[in-house]
Amino acid sequence: MDVKDIIKEENLVYKKSEVLTDNVMHYCPGCTHGVVHKVIAEVIEEKDIQDKTIGVSPVGCSVLAYNYIDIDWHEAAHGRAPAVATAVSRLMPDKYVFTYQGDGDLASIGSAEILHACNRGENIVVVFINNGIYGMTGGQYSPTTPTNYFGTTAPYGNIDRTFDIAQLAGAAGATYAARSTVFHVPQLTNYIENALRKKGFSLVEAISTCPTSFGRRNKKGDAVDMIKWLKDSAVTTTKAAKMSEEEMDGKFTIGEFKDTEAPEYVEEYDKLIERLKGEDNE
Ligand code: SF4
Ligand code: MG
Repeated sequence: MDVKDIIKEENLVYKKSEVLTDNVMHYCPGCTHGVVHKVIAEVIEEKDIQDKTIGVSPVGCSVLAYNYIDIDWHEAAHGRAPAVATAVSRLMPDKYVFTYQGDGDLASIGSAEILHACNRGENIVVVFINNGIYGMTGGQYSPTTPTNYFGTTAPYGNIDRTFDIAQLAGAAGATYAARSTVFHVPQLTNYIENALRKKGFSLVEAISTCPTSFGRRNKKGDAVDMIKWLKDSAVTTTKAAKMSEEEMDGKFTIGEFKDTEAPEYVEEYDKLIERLKGEDNE
């Protein structure tokens, strides 16, 4: 297809491009990516920022987000969404820029990207969809697969410790880091709103379910059973603080791990330019 056939009025991304939406790739039945899409779309609508929001999609099942949320999107190479979002955010600092990344993309090949974007204080939001498995590529275990769980590359159980990305982002310099699940929709909505409001780097982790690649291999029942499993396994940070290690076995914490203020990259850069201009005039 010639590029001239794509760049025309009816294919503008903001107008729900048929080039992007009229394809056969969709999520499996029972997949909860749709829950997070709805939350993001509702927050965008509520804040009336549809024409001011730019999404960056990754590699893996999460990439399909661009088929469902009617905003401008940019696709990134595997794990590189924060770098692309960095460029977009610096060029257009008045836009709301977010990435939508799964654990295979973000927590493995993309881990260095996240840490440095956190540390620099880029003004971006990362929505991290953590279903604990490489879904699209066939169920390989990922850095967030719970210990002793199964994947195609962990047929006898995963012996790695689970990587806690939300805590890591908080420690690496994010101004906002929080975790919720696809069961706790009002809380997840609240966290995404907070993240969009904050200056600097924000990360919101949404623990989600992949019935196809994670659920079947780990005998988690059907799609509804998996959501009940999230409900029963999530413990608020306040409650977790009063529980023993044994009581927390098999459970995970949800809540806000970091909520602070810190300089944001573009503002700091503008200050540097002003200072150097002042020195030139002396
Ligand atoms: Fe969803 Fe898993 Fe299917 Fe991917 S493989 S679309 S994450 S259920
Ligand atoms: Mg995944």
